Amino acid sequence: MILTLTVIVVASCTVVENSESAAGEQGHDDAVAENAPEGLEVDVLDVGEGDAVLVRFPGGSTMLVDGGPNAAGEDVLLPFFTSIHLTTLEYVVATHPDADHCGGLDDVVNNVHVLHVWENGQTKNTATWNDFAQAVQAHGLTPRIVHRGDAEDVDGCDVEVFNADQGYADVNSNGIVLAIICEGGQVLLTGDATEATENDLIGAFGGRLHSQIVKVPHHGSSNRSPAFPGAVDAEYAIFSVGPNSYGHPNPDVAAEWEATGAEIFRTDQQGTIVGEIHNGVCQVHAEQ
Ligand SMILES: [Zn+2]
Repeated sequence: MILTLTVIVVASCTVVENSESAAGEQGHDDAVAENAPEGLEVDVLDVGEGDAVLVRFPGGSTMLVDGGPNAAGEDVLLPFFTSIHLTTLEYVVATHPDADHCGGLDDVVNNVHVLHVWENGQTKNTATWNDFAQAVQAHGLTPRIVHRGDAEDVDGCDVEVFNADQGYADVNSNGIVLAIICEGGQVLLTGDATEATENDLIGAFGGRLHSQIVKVPHHGSSNRSPAFPGAVDAEYAIFSVGPNSYGHPNPDVAAEWEATGAEIFRTDQQGTIVGEIHNGVCQVHAEQ
């Protein structure tokens, strides 16, 4: 039934190309729009053990969700941005203040024109977090503290905050979880969400968790709800993971996602993973 509906949607949609006039007349807008994907693109970058996800919206706007560990800024993020001629990020989101997520963000803020920073309101007194916070301040940016239920229209896509808390003792559980509803599909970016967060999300959002593409929570940690993969019911489950001493990804977790019919992708085995949604059709492939 779903397949039938998808075919109808595709057949009835008119593809609107990005025209020069819609893309902006000069400056960075042109540079970004020239590289605008056809539809929504989500690049889960290979930053080793950590997360860094670049969301590229249909009109050329961009949102970086986390920046991997410290070395990822200069080694991965900035070279990747150069390769796609990205000089402006409309949004930088720090899901939570752990070093494997915010480590490279200071380099990003110091080298890319960042317009908005989203945080969940939690900080951490570490050199890594303080470097990021100081870079944000030095560039005159005031972080927006987001909360569950916040939503932003980006290029006609709906970016919704499904989680952003300060109430848990564990910073991972408080992290920002985003649902990006766009082009007839949905991408779920889960940060380092834990079993507690996942159960909370299931209770709060139910069927709204269903997403074609999911960045699997917390590098595939065993601290998860076995019910979560079924609730998301993804076509593609992407593990952002590198060499680590935590046993990530836990084999049971990978099996649970696979059991729901999701195709598994891993940055440690396949490098950067690219997800695309265009007119309700979703594809995921390794960059190379
Ligand atoms: Zn992490």
